[in-house]
Amino acid sequence: MNILVCVKQVPNTAEIKIDPIKGTMIRVGVPSIMNPDDKAGLEAALRLKDELGGTITVLSMGPNQAEEVLNEAYAMGADRLILLSDFKFAGSDTWATAHALAAAAKKLSFDLIITGRQAIDGDTAQVGPEMAEFLDLPQITYVRSLHFKDGHFIVERKVEDATYTLKAEGPLLVTVLAEGYTPRYMNVARLFAAYRQSKVELWTAANTDVDPLTIGLKSSPTKVYESFGKPIKPAGHVYEVDEKEAAKLIVDKLKENYLF
Ligand SMILES: Cc1cc2nc3c(=O)[nH]c(=O)nc-3n(C[C@H](O)[C@H](O)[C@H](O)COP(=O)(O)OP(=O)(O)OC[C@H]3O[C@@H](n4cnc5c(N)ncnc54)[C@H](O)[C@@H]3O)c2cc1C
Repeated sequence: MNILVCVKQVPNTAEIKIDPIKGTMIRVGVPSIMNPDDKAGLEAALRLKDELGGTITVLSMGPNQAEEVLNEAYAMGADRLILLSDFKFAGSDTWATAHALAAAAKKLSFDLIITGRQAIDGDTAQVGPEMAEFLDLPQITYVRSLHFKDGHFIVERKVEDATYTLKAEGPLLVTVLAEGYTPRYMNVARLFAAYRQSKVELWTAANTDVDPLTIGLKSSPTKVYESFGKPIKPAGHVYEVDEKEAAKLIVDKLKENYLF
């Protein structure tokens, strides 16, 4: 089984700081990690490979620094690493990013594409479904577990208040939830090997047949007009009262604040 896993390098959001003047994310000096849903997706791929054999290709689009997450993927057990990096991709929104990733995928052979459900920085959850659309593949989102049996993928899909078990034929694209898989540790020997001699293939737009009118800032349909931080809420009051008093207090406060 050939599996393509898309992995994004993201800032560790626990430590994100916003420039108070520009309103943009301060990336300099912020540690980066493999997006948690993607790490779970890689683990899902590794478990399928453990069971069935095959190869795992990991694809990331980003600056050279994104090699770090690809090396991590190698140390976890991935076979082939591709970094899609070109100034022509700069400024791509989700639509353009998905076009670039889909164009790279078209150059590879796969039975299954795994993306994370959502990246913790951009947070849109759009790239996986958009890639499926551009590749004309069926897609299953919000996947918590994934098996392959009798020629079919058996997929558990978790939504807010229900879980679906679905049977699907490949090739298909799934988007995986971090809660479904605890990623394995890196293998130290593989980690050393990855850093001793880079295993990462550097691809530019020219390695794909991507339409230049679908990538980069100019081709991105999303325009950001303003960004701002959340206002800090003042501390609340705690009232230790019984239920009757609580109901009266709530009504009084609503009247006081909203004058109805
Ligand atoms: C106008 C505009 C300009 C932008 N310019 C830039 C820019 O110059 N540089 C920049 O880094 N970002 C830029 N961005 C942000 C960029 O578009 C998003 O980070 C990217 O499209 C992914 O969206 P997301 O983070 O919401 O991912 P989601 O849709 O939440 O991600 C879902 C899954 O898709 C896969 N995925 C997403 N992105 C990648 C990737 N890059 N490589 C591999 N897999 C991926 C992962 O598996 C991920 O879990 C820009 C956004 C806008 C709106």
